[in-house]
Order: sequence, then structure tokens, then C-alpha cells
Amino acid sequence: MNSSEIAIAPRPSPTAGDTIIEDLERECAWWQKVLRLQDWTITEISMIRRWELPNPKAKSKVDWNIQNKTAQISILEAIDLREEDRFDSTFELVKQLVWLHFSLFLVEEDTIAEIAQCQAVHSITQGLVSTSRNSRIKVQEQSAFFTLQELQKKCEYWQKTLRLQDWQVELKFARASELARPTNLGQAHINSTHKAAWIKLLDPIDQQDGDRMIAADHEETLVHELLHLHFDPFMDLTNSARNTAQEIAIEMLAHALVVSQLLVDG
Ligand SMILES: [Zn+2]
Repeated sequence: MNSSEIAIAPRPSPTAGDTIIEDLERECAWWQKVLRLQDWTITEISMIRRWELPNPKAKSKVDWNIQNKTAQISILEAIDLREEDRFDSTFELVKQLVWLHFSLFLVEEDTIAEIAQCQAVHSITQGLVSTSRNSRIKVQEQSAFFTLQELQKKCEYWQKTLRLQDWQVELKFARASELARPTNLGQAHINSTHKAAWIKLLDPIDQQDGDRMIAADHEETLVHELLHLHFDPFMDLTNSARNTAQEIAIEMLAHALVVSQLLVDG
């Protein structure tokens, strides 16, 4: 993980007089930046009737072309909403964008891994949308490193946000020499069967001045390692290309989660 500049404007608010599609297009452009999906072209966002969706529970879908990096997103028409539907068009939009990150290592055929992947996408989207709406953390407040205690608080928050409360997570600082690679900022040992994880984060002692490390990176590393808990059931250690694609997706999503909580205006 490398630190990076936060150069995205605050989340746009809806404009009176715009159609639902125009609002969604504006939101889509913002979320593409946050999720670092600017290299994708969303050729169309449209409303769709319920019978056109792949299953009766779905409220949106995405059709993509990995070669051209183009995608069309369709969202359920309001006329087809049932009373029991908890419908949130932003949530549906962000969920379909998150799927684009998964497009390179999509799990099919294996039901357990497939369900785990759907749940991961759902929880990550919930995390993204809720942090972008609820948090009031200011960027300026985050200049120093976090203490382990502060990180433990952060960990509780992110476990809740990412729906990982049923996991036992232990955090500790580790010296650079204790990590698998000297460039690592963090590392997780995961036991999915017992829902237990040990996360090591690089001790601030070993973060040199030249590293441009800021506290937000520490948080990003923490979120990155927590995301690995969701990805563990469909991690494929035998295939390094898929593995790299997953690592990249995790890194982008961790970045998006931390950035979206920093960019709320108001
Ligand atoms: Zn990783």
C-alpha cells in the first residue's frame, strides 16, 4: 500500500429539477473517482422493470465488458417497488460499481465461495455508503499517527461498518523485521473456521520520514487487512494473477472506504 493524495471534491448533493437518472449520473462520476474506477466508462444508467432483472430479489444489475472497460448499470424502476423493499438507489449504484472491481476474479460454480463473494460485495457497499453519509471526520484532524488504542477503536468501528462484528480480531504493532516483506505496512493471519484474525500493523518507529506516511494510511492498512477476512473464502493462492487482481481490488476498496468518510461536506 502506498499513501496517496486525497484530491476528490465532496460528495455532490442532489439538485432540484434533475431527473433521477441525472442525479445518479452525477453520483456515479463521484463514486468512480472514490473507487478509482475512472478507467471504466459507464455508458448508460437506466431504470429497469423487475422482470428484466436476473432474480426476483435483485434491485439492480450491471453488464460489463472487461476488454473495453465499459459497463451499463440498470436500477429497478420505482413503479416496481414492493412495500417490503428497502430500496436505496445510491446503494444499488455503488454495489454495481464495486462488482466491477470483482470482475477480474469472479467466482462462479462454487456455491459457498459465490455466496461469500456476494456477501462481501454487499457488506463493503454498506460500509462505503454508510461512512460517506454518517461520518464527520475532518481531514486536518488526521495528521499524527494513531496509538494502538486509537487503532483498536478504529478497528471496532470498521468491524461494525463492514459487518465483521462476529470476528475476534486482535491488533498489534510489529517491527518491519517481523513482517513477511520489508515493504509491508500490515499483515493478517486469518482463521475463517473460528472467525479469528491477528492483524499486525507496522510500528510507527519503523516508518521513516521519507515514506510520506500519514495516519490515514495506517487506517487504510487496517481496513485493507479487515477486507481480507471477507475475501478469505474465495482467495485463490494457487493462481497468482487472480490473487494480484484481488489484492488490487482490496487496496482500492480500502482506499475508497477511508476516503469516503473523509469527504463528507457539512
Ligand atoms: Zn492484502
